[in-house]
Amino acid sequence: MSEPHPVSNDRLHGRPFPNADSLCETCGYRLQGLPPEGNCPECGTAIQASHPDHRPGLLWQQRQTLRTWWTTNWCVMMHPKQSFRRMNTGGSSDEEFMFFITNGFVASMIYIISWFGVVRRYGGPPVGTESLPFCCSVFPAIAVLTFLEAIGITHFSGKRGWRIPFRKSFRLCAYCSAGWFPGVLLLVTITLPTPKEVISGWIDLLPTGLPVPTWFLFWAGVFAVTVLPFEILSSIGMRQIRYANAP
Ligand SMILES: [Zn+2]
Repeated sequence: MSEPHPVSNDRLHGRPFPNADSLCETCGYRLQGLPPEGNCPECGTAIQASHPDHRPGLLWQQRQTLRTWWTTNWCVMMHPKQSFRRMNTGGSSDEEFMFFITNGFVASMIYIISWFGVVRRYGGPPVGTESLPFCCSVFPAIAVLTFLEAIGITHFSGKRGWRIPFRKSFRLCAYCSAGWFPGVLLLVTITLPTPKEVISGWIDLLPTGLPVPTWFLFWAGVFAVTVLPFEILSSIGMRQIRYANAP
């Protein structure tokens, strides 16, 4: 996938390549005016390796079905580098919103189940209408975290001289939402089947005397761990799109 693509014609969708927007995807060198069959003068990578033809899009970007939803999640989790190297960074934003909303909804459901697991064991608020505010806040919390991550990536990109405007970083984060699943599954794995005495031992290690109950501290701590896969995917992905050439 990372090998130079033999493009006999230096035009794609009517746009010449390299053009005024073309960067070497390896080092960010401006490619305008260079022969398409040559190499980047800065890093030596073949110029054709930066051709937008190498970004046909994730499977979900090409077609939105239950199958491509699942396979896109799987590929992003298992092969993040290759997946984000394929991601189309131009065009419509509708697909990524659908993907993000679906993932956010499913992940929220799993979070809520795990919450009830903790509450049942440790005497938090009763499972009923009192839990409604929490249940309703999970998806917005995921959405806010995703937006903050996208803003953070754009900010970081600006400092490093990369080319990741917010529109592109949000797309990346929307697909990184695949990382919520291992996180929430970990959460469920920890909170539901583990014997109460074992988790009680962990909770006893937490500081007391704080304004929040320890069972909530425990849940919040595990939540922080569940964010890790999402964060790791984001950091891998931003390096794959930092100089991306959109079709
Ligand atoms: Zn280069």
